[in-house]
Amino acid sequence: MRRIFCVGRNYAAHAREMGKDPERDPPFFFTKPGDAVVDTDTTVPYPTLTRNLHHEVELVVAIGRAGLRVPASDANRLIWGYAVGIDLTKRDLQEDAKANARPWDWSKAFDQSAPCSAIVPGVLPPPDTSRIWLSVNGKIRQDAVLGDMIWSVPEIIATCSAAMRLLPGDLIFTGTPAGVGQLAPGDHVEGKIDGVGRVAVTIGDPV
Ligand code: MN
Repeated sequence: MRRIFCVGRNYAAHAREMGKDPERDPPFFFTKPGDAVVDTDTTVPYPTLTRNLHHEVELVVAIGRAGLRVPASDANRLIWGYAVGIDLTKRDLQEDAKANARPWDWSKAFDQSAPCSAIVPGVLPPPDTSRIWLSVNGKIRQDAVLGDMIWSVPEIIATCSAAMRLLPGDLIFTGTPAGVGQLAPGDHVEGKIDGVGRVAVTIGDPV
């Protein structure tokens, strides 16, 4: 894995639950290090410093070809495949960072913060009707369809590649639907996207 780019607020209902107006402002990004990825069916220790660890299930795009300033109309050629990931977030640290106009790294880019399924090869995005959902201990917390995304995958690639040359091995987490919530040690978290895959982790004892 090279870099992980993550889109903030790409589902209107999630933007609203975070207290934001979901206008169609251009997508914005934050990053996680490539080694934050953990495979499915592993245990992720409850991380440092937080008392409010949150789950965010997301469609993940795997980049297979390089591109700088790629228009949306040409963006599919950069795609190697898709996966489903969980953008683990220290929500309390993120709220502090927002309130103090500080960077999000400590809340987003921590160790093992990006559980991710196997990547399914394929260029065309899964259909808008594909269900994206997440359960904790068998109870559904997040449940939406990919068509609810404000920005499409080609639009996200266009915007990201306006700033950075995307390269093979980069991943893009494309934002989470509504229903984000708290995790505790012992929780079993499972995220799925129809036709894409499944990612599951257990939250372990504090590291
Ligand atoms: Mn996210």
